[in-house]
Amino acid sequence: MDDTPLWMREQLHGDYAQAMRVDDVLYDSQTDHQRLRVIQNETFGRVLTLDDVVQVTERDNFIYHEMLTHVPIFAHGAATRICIVGGGDGGMAREALRHKTVKHVTMVEIDPGVVEFSKRYLPTISNGAFDDPRLDLVIADGADFMKTTTGDYDVIIVDSTDPIGPGEALYANTFYADARKALKDGGIIVTQNGVPFMQGDELTRTMRAFQALFADATCYLATVPSYAGGPMAFGWGTDSGARHTDVNTLQTRFCASGIRPQYYTAEVHKAAFALPGYIRKLIP
Ligand code: SAM
Repeated sequence: MDDTPLWMREQLHGDYAQAMRVDDVLYDSQTDHQRLRVIQNETFGRVLTLDDVVQVTERDNFIYHEMLTHVPIFAHGAATRICIVGGGDGGMAREALRHKTVKHVTMVEIDPGVVEFSKRYLPTISNGAFDDPRLDLVIADGADFMKTTTGDYDVIIVDSTDPIGPGEALYANTFYADARKALKDGGIIVTQNGVPFMQGDELTRTMRAFQALFADATCYLATVPSYAGGPMAFGWGTDSGARHTDVNTLQTRFCASGIRPQYYTAEVHKAAFALPGYIRKLIP
């Protein structure tokens, strides 16, 4: 019997790939939209891949989900209505719903297969979020949804795949303009913009669009081990001054929330907006 370990190769870039040892394949199927797999890896736990690109892992997803929810929600200070675009694994809803002050979360996911299968094979990621009565799950293309939504949300979180396949529509200027209309006054949009060292043009593209739309357009950073190549960038767009909320105010809001995350702190929040030179240069 051949007991050579099996490895999954993730070829995100022309000249660079990363590999993960596959200790077990728990699920493998083709949905109407993409190829969906769950593999087991000793370091990362269960790992969800879409078209062989790592989307989320059991062990390090807390960093990504905490930073895309708590940063805009604590900076806003009074967010009650949140919209998540994408987010099918339920991790973003899990973190947003930890805020008792959040009354409603709309999650717009294109692929019902991701939701159903995440509930079954990755239950620790959503951790009950799909059963929370404050969550409204809409199965639709996020770009179509935004066209018909106006002035409804305090925070919009774009938890999308990279700009290939169905995710492409969520990087278009028209989508960002529609999302701006869907924000209430003082609302904030945040987006996943990949790893700038590897995918700098992805960040530049979003930043160019945000600069035309928002008074404050920048990005902030966090390092997520399963996304290779350095820190990830999260786009930030708002007409408010929420980015400049001081650390003591953030700390007061954080303590009052009763949330005890694994990554987020008020200090990490402030520091995340400090950009190294090579990333600053990617913002036009
Ligand atoms: N953090 C991940 C990564 O590696 O980039 C992405 C998270 S995954 C939850 C992204 C989700 O966005 C997937 O469930 C995918 O089906 C969904 N998605 C992609 N395009 C979409 C669209 N146009 N509208 C709504 N959801 C979309």
